[in-house]
Formats: sequence, C-alpha cells, structure tokens
Amino acid sequence: MKRTGKCEQTLTDQDDLLKKTLLHYSEIYTSIQGEGAHSGLPCFFIRTSVCDIRCTWCDTPHALGKGKNISLEELLSQIPDEISLVQITGGEPLIQRKTILKIMEILTQAPFHKKIILETGGHHLLEGIPKDIHIVMDIKLPGSGEEKHDFQRNFSYLKQNDEIKFVIRDRRDFEFSLSLIQTHHLDQICSLVFSPVWGEIELKKLAEWILKEKAPVRLQTQLHKIIWGESAQGV
Ligand code: SF4
Repeated sequence: MKRTGKCEQTLTDQDDLLKKTLLHYSEIYTSIQGEGAHSGLPCFFIRTSVCDIRCTWCDTPHALGKGKNISLEELLSQIPDEISLVQITGGEPLIQRKTILKIMEILTQAPFHKKIILETGGHHLLEGIPKDIHIVMDIKLPGSGEEKHDFQRNFSYLKQNDEIKFVIRDRRDFEFSLSLIQTHHLDQICSLVFSPVWGEIELKKLAEWILKEKAPVRLQTQLHKIIWGESAQGV
C-alpha cells in the first residue's frame, strides 16, 4: 500500500494504538465534495459502516450494515497529502465515537493539518466534538420516519460556521422545517441547508417554496449525483 512521506514519518512516531485500533467502515475514497459549504472541493471521504436508525430515503444503504475493518495506521496511510479536506460520514460515525475522536485528533494536527467535516444524523450527542471540526448535522423530518429523536439537545454544540441539513421529501417536511427554524431561531445558530430527497421532489419546486416563504436557508443539490449518477459508490 502506497504511503506518503508525511504519513510514514508520523506513523513511525505513533504507538501500537494506531495498529490496534480498528475503524468499521464501508468505503474510503477521494472525490468531489457534493454538498454543503465545501461543495465542489476535492475531498477524502471516510464512510463508516453501521447506522442505528433507518431513514426511509437513505441513499447509503450499503453503509447500514457491519462493513469492513481497517486499522487507523492503514487508514491514515491512504489519505493523500495533497487533499486538505476530509469528510467523516456514514452510516452514523458517532456510533464509533472514541475512534472517530482519535482520527480527528490526529488529522487536525501536524503533519496532516486537515480540515475535517463530520456529517452526522443528529441523533447522537455532539458534546465533546472539537471546535475546529466542521459539523454538518441532519434534523430528520417526518418524511424520513426518524423525526422522533431529540435533535434539540445538540443545538448548543453547533457553531456559526456549522450546518444543519434538512432533507426535504414533501411540503409537510418543508413546513415542519420552517416551524423548527422559527421556534428555535436556528438561523441565528448556524447555516441552514435545504436539500431535496433525490428523485422525489423537484429542485425547482423547493426553490419556489423557499423564495415564496422567504426561508433563511440555502438550497443545495447533491453535486456528486449529478457528476457520477445517483447510484454510484466510492466516487
Ligand atoms: S442517518 Fe444516514 S446512514 Fe443512517 S439511515 Fe439515515 S441517511 Fe442512512
């Protein structure tokens, strides 16, 4: 397996922990970031395996199950030096909280100095996530079938540059989102993103609703699906 110069230098300084600690993962790959504030940038993706909820529209069903194991040593060796952005996604990454925190600690420090995006379903507590991590947190809506979780408890852990993502399936989800934004003044907490469930609601319709209701949100689509197709994996 190819190792970069920086990786090799770092790994020789690490203890057995990196060899012994395993991450359960679905796929790791370099691609274009397709969503959010970093959309369009080259990014290394770490997609963990296992999720403890079941969104009706989940577009990563291949990451719901057990997946494979990789040591942190091997994982770090595969991250290209020239890619400065790393996204940790899932599945649900925070199921493996201790391992994820270790990965964040290593990657944000010398010699890596990576910018880390953590994408989470929002149903796990964000307490303890370091301040230099860019958090993208879902609030699950009725159309997902997983709206019952306590997303509110995480609001105090979000920073101004973080993002709350609402994946919108229909008008009910749209209105539910607006109500949450108004009730909790979410636009004063961080960036808010409305993303349509792929293939279920037209981008144009969602755009019209946003404009008509003057919603304080940013519309996004999933750029990676436009580039490589909706079913592509590992890109
Ligand atoms: S939280 Fe993410 S991985 Fe889990 S079921 Fe929902 S969309 Fe799929």
